[in-house]
Amino acid sequence: MPDYDLLVVGSANADLVIGVERRPAAGETVLGSDLAVHPGGKGANQAFAAARLGARTALLARVGDDGHGRLLLDSQRNAGVDTAGVLIGGAPTGVALITVDPSGDNSIVVSPGANARLAPADVRAAADLLASARVVSLQLEIPLETVATVVEVVRTGRANDGADGAGASTGAGGTGGGATGRGGPRIVLNPSPPAPLPAEVLAACDPLVVNEHEARFLLGDDPAGREEDPETWAAALLTRGPRSVVITLGAAGALVADRDRTVLVPSLPVKAVDTTGAGDAFTGALAWRLGVGDDLETAVRFAVRVGAAAVTRDGAQESFPTAEEVAAR
Ligand code: ADP
Repeated sequence: MPDYDLLVVGSANADLVIGVERRPAAGETVLGSDLAVHPGGKGANQAFAAARLGARTALLARVGDDGHGRLLLDSQRNAGVDTAGVLIGGAPTGVALITVDPSGDNSIVVSPGANARLAPADVRAAADLLASARVVSLQLEIPLETVATVVEVVRTGRANDGADGAGASTGAGGTGGGATGRGGPRIVLNPSPPAPLPAEVLAACDPLVVNEHEARFLLGDDPAGREEDPETWAAALLTRGPRSVVITLGAAGALVADRDRTVLVPSLPVKAVDTTGAGDAFTGALAWRLGVGDDLETAVRFAVRVGAAAVTRDGAQESFPTAEEVAAR
């Protein structure tokens, strides 16, 4: 069984984009631009970003037995992602129907399709694939019970190992279990789209990666969420159980926090053209660097450079940089 720096378990969507002068009202038809079809979905985006940087990457996902599914498989393989774990059939490939108006505002309808059929049983059947990765990266565009099953399968592996207890040193200054070869893979979770998370899932995150919107969602009624201070959010999120937290802050970079310290990692000053997919590029890069043994702060310093590069070009996957492009910045 090959050894992967990173296994992404998540969504794969075809993004169908049409430019419109204005959106149709109910019952109305408007004409738009030629259709553009792009591979997307948070899982596929993260895997693409990591593989393009040179990571040994695998994807566990589900697509339909259709043209969109083949488009996604082709783009993943072209980036260097191992797609042997991608399941085919059960429903049409997930689709995002996107209209863009002249001001650049999007309206999006998502049909989760096959993503909604990536089931806990699929994860259990892929237990060997999970065990062969140093880091497993998750998002929430697949069923929450499937995400919870990934965490459970990974934790069961750790329990058998017995060496990676709750007191282990991880986070900004330490090293994770999977990246050091001890125990099972390290789990990175970006809770997007945001949803309430079970305690076992939160406790497994190292790190939990959130943007401002997701941080406030998870904090719910907690007064910390009403502050305008990411350090306050990070401290409050840490009390929910994750071993570490990364809060992405757009042009301001990212905040890294664990029980020992909090560090603001500034972004690079760039001319932002299109921020679509920047968070996925950031998280894919971060997860890869953790998989090859970087400590969390070092991995975030690399990831902000990848995020910055991704916003300088149009599109999502087509805007993601190579390692050479990141090094040249
Ligand atoms: P999301 O896309 O999930 O909302 P962010 O907007 O916080 O997430 O972007 C993710 C990362 O991408 C940021 O932490 C930063 O590294 C990079 N990034 C985003 N926007 C910019 C920008 N305007 N300039 C430089 N880097 C950016």
